[in-house]
Amino acid sequence: MREVSIGALPLDRFAAVLPEERVALLKTAADRAAHLLTGRTVWNVSSTERGGGVAEMLQTLVAYGQGAGVRTRWVVVTGDERFFTVTKRLHNLIHGFAGDRGALDASDEAHYREVLARNLDGWQERVRPGDLVLLHDPQTVGLAGALRTLGAQVIWRCHIGTDRADGHSSRGWAFLRPYFEDADAYVFSRREYAPAWLPASRVWVIPPSLDPFSAKNAPMADESVRGALHRAGIVERLDGDGNVAFVRRNGTSGLVRVHRELLVDEERPLPADAAVMLQVSRWDRLKDMAGVLTGFADHVDHFPDGVHLLLVGPDVRGVSDDPEGGQVLGECRQLRAALPPATRARVHLCCLPMDDVDENAHLVNALQRHASVVVQKSLMEGFGLTVTEAMWKERPVVASAVGGIVDQIEDGVSGVLLHDPADLDHFATLAADLFRDPGRQVRIGTAAHERVAREFLGDRHLIQYGELFAALVAGSRSASR
Ligand code: UDP
Repeated sequence: MREVSIGALPLDRFAAVLPEERVALLKTAADRAAHLLTGRTVWNVSSTERGGGVAEMLQTLVAYGQGAGVRTRWVVVTGDERFFTVTKRLHNLIHGFAGDRGALDASDEAHYREVLARNLDGWQERVRPGDLVLLHDPQTVGLAGALRTLGAQVIWRCHIGTDRADGHSSRGWAFLRPYFEDADAYVFSRREYAPAWLPASRVWVIPPSLDPFSAKNAPMADESVRGALHRAGIVERLDGDGNVAFVRRNGTSGLVRVHRELLVDEERPLPADAAVMLQVSRWDRLKDMAGVLTGFADHVDHFPDGVHLLLVGPDVRGVSDDPEGGQVLGECRQLRAALPPATRARVHLCCLPMDDVDENAHLVNALQRHASVVVQKSLMEGFGLTVTEAMWKERPVVASAVGGIVDQIEDGVSGVLLHDPADLDHFATLAADLFRDPGRQVRIGTAAHERVAREFLGDRHLIQYGELFAALVAGSRSASR
């Protein structure tokens, strides 16, 4: 395991976006947690420090934990290709999908255990009795027993799941089930995700949140949006160079670098006046980037002439725990190459560099703000932070009615839901209708922002964690809500 270095962030900054009474509640909860957790460390263990929703949230939740006066740390497990192939298989199964259809046999299980056991080398002395350990997702739950033996209280924080248990999900859960007894509590993003056989008294439901101050979500002037996207070689220059500066998480400033090859298989950036339909996702089959591409290309006549589709994901070399990325990007490249030239000119694939997480976040921020319509046509989604992020930026979002997306979007009010993600004609119609109605874009965007402000900001998330920690420290293994 290696530690991710994160500096503290003050909770006071929430005063800029929250009503006074919410700030007061947060501060009271923070003081209570700091008092209660004196002498203990809250550890987070995940499988990567960059790429995906878990890493995104930990970047700031860990920092706010420290800002609240709670010793909060984050470590990342290391594994080999086979380990991450097995855990990606589990990820797909628990979402109710077959994935690569590979086996999950005794040798896979032995390898999973071995890799995690190696991760504990040298960590036995660091975790103390009384510490709290949050193990994130299937990649880490196998550490529960060893950590419990060291005297820690262990919480399994599962960010994935399906509302319709089926043969695939049962197979995934069967692999993980032996490790569950070692956890003191289980946290899911939705109640429906908790397998029925888990003791309900130890199940907590805590939906994700975004940080309104991070480089990904902070307010951005138009000239910064233009500056960032032009400098990165994604959109042609509009008027003037724009502003290329951004603020890093540690408060220092950064400048967007000149990038020349972020658009895949293309020489030129998008036209400055293109109206953009955007999906930002990892290159993961369940995000269905290929389906978005086909849905747009096959129904391009539904859309006004100036609409372009932009599919954006991380540089596939940069996300260590996601072995599927290269294949999915390759499939999208093939689909794009086979399009008639006039349609191909309106479809763009973009890979963002992952070597500078703050620049990456700033570029995602600029892209989401530049887009007229954001889509998230996932086949399954644990929660869908990309939806929350676009809603916060007042973008109208068209997204599949799957998983946590239905908790975020009130259909027709704060976004538009696609009830059957496989219905590409309907998908294109819903998106194209939005492009034709700027007034509706604004109405939906405004309601979307308000919904995120009410439900999905960090204060609620931190307070819920505080309640969970309090229950565990109070000594009750079964004090859930
Ligand atoms: N993301 C990013 N760069 C990319 C693609 C995705 O920073 O090139 C971020 C995205 O902004 C969001 C997270 O990765 O914060 C994805 O979280 P989500 O919950 O949508 O899906 P997950 O990847 O966890 O399945």
